[in-house]
Amino acid sequence: ESTQQPPHVAILPTPGMGHLIPLTEFAKRLVLHHSFTITFIIPTDGSSMQPQRDILQTLPKSINSIFLPPVSFSDLPEDGKIEIRIALSVTRSLPSLREALKELAQSTRLSAFVVDLLGTLAFPVAIEFGVSPYVFFPTTAMNLCLVLHSHKLDESFSCEYRDLSEPVILPGCVPVHGTDLVEPFQDKKDEAYKWILSISKLYNLAEGIMVNSFMDLEPGAFKALKEGGWCKPPVYPVGPLIQAGSASGDNGFECLKWLGEQPSGSVLFVSFGSGGTLSHEQLTELALGLEMSGQRFLWVVRSPHEKSNASYFSAQTNKDPFDFLPDGFLDRTNGSGLVLSSWTPQIQVLGHGSTGGFLTHCGWNSTLESIVHGVPIIAWPLFAEQKMNAVLLSDDLKVALRVKVNGNGVVERENIAKYARGLIKGQEGTELRNRMRGFKEAAEKALRQDSSSTRSLEEIAQKWMI
Ligand code: UDP
Repeated sequence: ESTQQPPHVAILPTPGMGHLIPLTEFAKRLVLHHSFTITFIIPTDGSSMQPQRDILQTLPKSINSIFLPPVSFSDLPEDGKIEIRIALSVTRSLPSLREALKELAQSTRLSAFVVDLLGTLAFPVAIEFGVSPYVFFPTTAMNLCLVLHSHKLDESFSCEYRDLSEPVILPGCVPVHGTDLVEPFQDKKDEAYKWILSISKLYNLAEGIMVNSFMDLEPGAFKALKEGGWCKPPVYPVGPLIQAGSASGDNGFECLKWLGEQPSGSVLFVSFGSGGTLSHEQLTELALGLEMSGQRFLWVVRSPHEKSNASYFSAQTNKDPFDFLPDGFLDRTNGSGLVLSSWTPQIQVLGHGSTGGFLTHCGWNSTLESIVHGVPIIAWPLFAEQKMNAVLLSDDLKVALRVKVNGNGVVERENIAKYARGLIKGQEGTELRNRMRGFKEAAEKALRQDSSSTRSLEEIAQKWMI
């Protein structure tokens, strides 16, 4: 009689719904297809972590979660970069993580320790217990190329990347201007950049890197990662892993009902993810631009903030975003536009036949969701790696129009109106839509039995069975 326990995997998500959501999808596949048991070990900062708890509660019962004791950020300046907070949420949780892993190593058949792209500072603890460390990379292979090249780039250029006259060439990738590199690369003197370099260095300790993208979307980058000889850990394309989605809450019902009353492919969905915010001036331009376009729109509006990632650590703000809309805007657009505050069931919206375009901040989860549903994009990147994603979408895949900012960093209403019309009605929009449909098919294919991403998942599961 076999008394052997199922293999167990510990997963450490760093703060951010965009990290947790794809990790839970990855975990579900391990549990449902490969009989693993899983523990999420979650660093906390003293906030309620309600959105995280809500997601974790819906998971199958062989996925447990442990919330680590809160760490304090009271010593940090208010305006510090989020990457610093994320890194410190890991380093300051190391003692409690060690306890949690020790316990798991004793009580389960612990075969792997998985962190997301910013969690490698926790690797030494796993190695201490003889557990194999892995990275789950919730964004593009292109961004992974940047991470793995960061030290080389750092040595090659003494100036700021944004001052380079030529674009940066990453193997297998479309050229990227310095100004479009991930946010911490925009200021080498900032602590955030130093943290990113430390985090990147530890990637070499990983025994594998799972990427939430797929072969047919980024063939060049995946090939370069595999064959270049400069990426030590094996790289596994496992995507697109997106949430199944649920239309819970009042907003969900209201917006799906409204969409149901609109003509096919006529609505522009406007949302900046769980953490994106606009300045008050920009919010006004967006409102007036949408109105000027004469197109139907569904807009998830958030209270303005001068910092573009102001809601990153909490998706809810106290102020009523409707108070910031231009006078009379809601009345004038009543019928053609629906404006909702905070949260919508994005996946259902993107999957709805009335949705014809997505104005997005290019968070990678939102991007994948748009690809899976074949919805072309207006790319309006705000922070993190979103500008690089916009480069991939507009310059390489050619499924997006990218917004232009003026000298003050503002996207003007006339342009917003032009993009909205162009995407929903114009010839360019039709071309982008057709190309996006091609990637939609490729995405479906990647997850079929015997296809690239399914095979990668099987390969990883096999490794972790032992
Ligand atoms: N999301 C949602 N409703 C909203 C806003 C966001 O369901 O109103 C989901 C969205 O579907 C995606 C995730 O939240 O899965 C946002 O992740 P992404 O990587 O796009 O951006 P981030 O929030 O990390 O900036």
